[in-house]
This record gives sequence, C-alpha cells and structure tokens, in this order.
Amino acid sequence: MSLSFTHLGTGSRGNATLLECGDMKLLIDQGFSGRELEKRLARMELKVSDINALLITHHHTDHGSGASLTQRRWDIPVFCNDRTAAALNLDLAKVKIFENLEALNFADDLALLPIPVPHSGADNVAFIASHRGERGAVLTDLGSWTDELVNHVSGCQHISVEANYDNTRLWNGPYPMKLKERISGRGGHLSNHQTGEFLSKVVNQNTRSVVLTHLSQKNNAPHLAESTVLYHIDEVFEGDIRVSLQDGPEFTHHIGQEEPEKVPREGITLR
Ligand SMILES: [Zn+2]
Ligand SMILES: [Zn+2]
Repeated sequence: MSLSFTHLGTGSRGNATLLECGDMKLLIDQGFSGRELEKRLARMELKVSDINALLITHHHTDHGSGASLTQRRWDIPVFCNDRTAAALNLDLAKVKIFENLEALNFADDLALLPIPVPHSGADNVAFIASHRGERGAVLTDLGSWTDELVNHVSGCQHISVEANYDNTRLWNGPYPMKLKERISGRGGHLSNHQTGEFLSKVVNQNTRSVVLTHLSQKNNAPHLAESTVLYHIDEVFEGDIRVSLQDGPEFTHHIGQEEPEKVPREGITLR
C-alpha cells in the first residue's frame, strides 16, 4: 500500500493537503470555504464526505478557517492541539485533542506524529506520516527550526515544506517594515534560502520527492524558490522537486510499494 500526498492548494489564501493510505483519507489543514474544498476534491473525483479525518496544524485563517464548518456540515472528526482548538472555536465535545509529540494512529498502520514548530502566536505543528517504514513530512509556517524537527524529518521519503519568500523581493517589496520584520523573524516564515538550508540538513539518499509550498505571491516566484533550494541540496538530492501554488490540486506524490490506481491531472509515481 502506498502513502500519497496531494496539495489541494497552498499559500496565504488557503491551505489543504490530502494524505491517502489505502482507503484512509486524511486532510491536513482546511483554510478554504466549503464550496472551494468541494471543488478541489472533485478534481480528484472525491467528495468531502470521503474524508475520514481533518488535522489542523495551527489556527491561522489560511489553515484553520474551514475547520469548524467541516466539522459541523460533514461531521468529520477534527484533530488538533488544545490551543488551536480554543482559538478556532471548535465544538470541544467533538474535537479530538492531541498532545504534541504523541503519535495519532489510524487504520492500516498509518500514524501521524505532530512536532511543534516555531511560529508566532500559534501552537503550530508539522506532521510526519508513517506507514510500514515509509515516512513523509508536511510542514509549513515556521520562522526557524529545532533540532527535534530536523531529527524527525531527516531521511523522510517525501518532504513538503514552505519556501515563503525571496530575501531580495521581501526587503525591496511593498510591505511595511514591521511586517517584513515579522515575516523574516524566528516566528515568521522560511525564506527560500532558509528552506534550502533546512533541507540540506534533512534530505538524504532516501528522499525521493520535495514539494515547496506556501510561496508568497508578492515576495516570491516559483523559479526563485526552486533554484535557491536546489543550490543547497543538488549534490545529495536526485529526486523530484515541485512547487505547489495557490490553485491545486496539480500533482500527487506516492511513496511505498504499490502502483497507484488513480492520480489527478498530472501524477508522479516514485518507487
Ligand atoms: Zn499559512
Ligand atoms: Zn501561520
């Protein structure tokens, strides 16, 4: 059975990532309207009611604004830590609160481990999905990283990580100085250069796919993100690198043994 990762869209206007393992379908983050989520899943021939659980990284609007609606309208269990649940006003009787660093176990030997990441004013987590020896990481919205995070992401077969801004574009761009300082601070977002540096610590010969996510539309461009990151990892990384933009889904990455039966518009199988 393979593990697959499909970004339905990433960026400051909404994030959601579909994780599939056999019949199990999990959504990481829901920052879209209900209709928008329906539309994006329909491109993969899926309905919202096909989703088994929703996991939220942190409460910011672009990650959690659709959580309460998804919980109420489709009765889908929502998993998050207590600070995120409180900030999102979720129905606490129905929400499944997790502790950071305690694995969440789903059917078919699928487990997700939430790892705390530094992000101002939020109790944000990265998720490491594991299934029978295969591991994939989904992490976004972090101004810096910890040794703990490096240890957990090291050697993952698949890594989705934000590459939020290009340094030159941010500092020469239109944002007010205070905002520029917040974005580039320890609790803000990763620049392309920082993402490259982080990946150079965690990518090894096991890593087969990297997806760069959450690019700023004002302060970044796909070719800048990709070339800056490749500069840092080119010598060790021989896999597939892609950029996920705001309008998805555009591609799926599979890790594991089995040939996938169905892929969206442009599928990639990595074995
Ligand atoms: Zn975000
Ligand atoms: Zn955030």
